[in-house]
Amino acid sequence: MVDNNIKLTGNHSARSSAPGETKARQDASVYAPVTSLYGVGSALAAKLKSLGIETVIDLLYHFPRKYLDRSNVSTISSVKTGQDVTVVGRVCNVDLRETRTRKNMLVVDIYDGTGYLSGVWFNQPYHAERLKEGTEVAFSGKVNFTYGRLRIVNPDYDIIGSPGGSSVAEQVHTGRIVPVYPCTSGVTSAMLRRLISRALAYVPGLLDPIPERVRDGFKILPIEKALKQIHFPESPDDLKQAWRRMIFEEIFLLQVGLAYKKRFRQRNAKGIAHKPPGALVARFLNSLPFELTSAQKRCLDEIVKDMTSDYQMNRLLQGEVASGKTVIAVLALLLTVENGYQGAIMAPTEVLASQHTERIGKMLSEIPIRVEMLSKGSPPALLGDIAKGDVDIVIGTHALIQEKVKFKNLALVVVDEQHRFGIRQRFILATKGKAPDVLHMSATPIPRTLALTLYGDLDISTVDELPPGRKGVITVVADESQRIGVFARIRNEISRGRQAFVICPLIEDSESLEAKAVAAEVENLRKFFPDFRIAHLHGQMKSEEKANIMKRFEAGEIDVLVSTILVEVGIDVPNATIMIVENAERFGLAQLHQLRGRVGRGVERGIFILFAEPASDEAKARTEAIRKYSDGFSLAEADLMIRGEGTLFGMRQSGVSDMRLVKTSRNINLIRKAREAAFEIVDSDPLMKEPPNQLLLEEVKRRFARKIDWLFVA
Ligand code: ADP
Ligand code: MG
Repeated sequence: MVDNNIKLTGNHSARSSAPGETKARQDASVYAPVTSLYGVGSALAAKLKSLGIETVIDLLYHFPRKYLDRSNVSTISSVKTGQDVTVVGRVCNVDLRETRTRKNMLVVDIYDGTGYLSGVWFNQPYHAERLKEGTEVAFSGKVNFTYGRLRIVNPDYDIIGSPGGSSVAEQVHTGRIVPVYPCTSGVTSAMLRRLISRALAYVPGLLDPIPERVRDGFKILPIEKALKQIHFPESPDDLKQAWRRMIFEEIFLLQVGLAYKKRFRQRNAKGIAHKPPGALVARFLNSLPFELTSAQKRCLDEIVKDMTSDYQMNRLLQGEVASGKTVIAVLALLLTVENGYQGAIMAPTEVLASQHTERIGKMLSEIPIRVEMLSKGSPPALLGDIAKGDVDIVIGTHALIQEKVKFKNLALVVVDEQHRFGIRQRFILATKGKAPDVLHMSATPIPRTLALTLYGDLDISTVDELPPGRKGVITVVADESQRIGVFARIRNEISRGRQAFVICPLIEDSESLEAKAVAAEVENLRKFFPDFRIAHLHGQMKSEEKANIMKRFEAGEIDVLVSTILVEVGIDVPNATIMIVENAERFGLAQLHQLRGRVGRGVERGIFILFAEPASDEAKARTEAIRKYSDGFSLAEADLMIRGEGTLFGMRQSGVSDMRLVKTSRNINLIRKAREAAFEIVDSDPLMKEPPNQLLLEEVKRRFARKIDWLFVA
């Protein structure tokens, strides 16, 4: 399904074939392997590759991690004990010895022409491997004066030059701002500096991928100047401008890619034009014991509009947990079925898939269609029936994307909790039909602007209203001293015929430890509640076992369900009114919010109790936020503020994780404007035929080819 016109090869035909662009061919050398640079052989090339550097342009885009500025480098003779300083010098002595307490102590002395200073480490002898005699290095840290020597214990250090290289210290002293690069073994900052200064000689032929008009509009430096200044800045202001340019470039190129992809798909991906909703959909709507909320109606309208048009739908349906997204998805599936096609739902876990199957089966009990769950162990006969088109709706996990799964005429793909899947997986499922409509569902609310960045190529529908009659959830943060009281509340709920969840600590990367935590918790609870029916659920159980427990919990045969975070997604047991989370400080805000959604489902007020001992400020801020905010959008903002950056609200950031420079939270305005500019260009020249646009598109492809290969997949 890769369009041939825009095949992602390394040749730059679009650029070089453009009329009047003879100069363009010159810059081909920028795309040549690094070995074309003087001094780079295959051994060095291999090392550079481990830094992600394969071509000259990669090298030019290997930006400094920081800079040493004369204003923040001190001469050793001038430093005083107690100061926090950075000094630059050459290693003149390395000594590894044992102290009286049998620790080993590494002392590395440096000399900068004005004096000596020692870096000292205890029990970290390995630093000696990097700090060989003659190496030029910057030490930073607090200076003390011991045994007649200036010392920094555990200095932060940067290798600046290898033994024998030209002295940067001299350059520093003559006022240069020295770049310090991300390095790897065998590749020092000094080597990179030398190579990059050679690579810069290629830059004058480089055409700027950002059209002049955009550059002028956003007041950003041209590429040539920016590249030069980012590596070898002449002044702090030049440096600032250079970074601004590179940050903008990153944002803008991604937005152009997303805009182009969106328009490309709308144009080329001739999708399936469903007929408008008919008898089957109407019959289902009539069978529902409730009216759709107006938000649900609006979202459904948007989906129907996409599905009945002849382009391929690619829509994100987002809304709070329990806002009623599943009902909308079922309506969309019925629309596809009554048009004579098949539909599929892909869910991230086995538990969720079987629960969907159960509930959707129940919802559709009056409707004469065939719904089946497909798992890894399903019998071949089921595969056969799916391939023949005898199954109308297939529900499953990743099992759906197995090679052997074939559909007769898949026309609607629903991806539940879409952020749990990689782009690849979603894409593969879509290839099982012929340009099927795709509906992504997410209960992870993200602020709108960020949604545009993350899912800039998707259309978005938001269910921003909860079904009526929900009483909400009270959130309580408790500590151990309140445990008896908390257990009394559990007893109280259960004696009223309600059910409880107890969520055990999240233990990173160890299902077996989690299982143990669950077992311990069960044992403990049995002591407190000998009269309750207690069952448990964890990741190491077989899927039938898990499904069976869930079924019994739903049927009310279990009073307390002790579980790992497994229940996070999608479980719907309205009779469960209370949830306790152990070691809540270990969970992310997104997870806590999802968990809380489990007890806000009935007509009774839910109780959500967190046992938390937040040690860090960040953990404190998180528990505070979850207590304070009940809606996901506010929480998402809070999460963004607390963490600044990182994995936004606990989700995989798809395209954005490919942004190296941009702090999404800090650049929201710029992102929005860049997005507008990107769409303006793509809409005014949809095929990107004009030479500057051609150049731009080519750069987008080059940039994202390796990382976002989905970008140009229809
Ligand atoms: P989501 O998929 O967004 O988590 P669901 O579709 O599972 O939410 O709906 C959550 C619960 O609310 C279900 O029990 C569902 O039957 C019920 N529900 C959905 N829409 C409405 C509505 N408009 N009015 C009343 N209840 C609704
Ligand atoms: Mg759901």
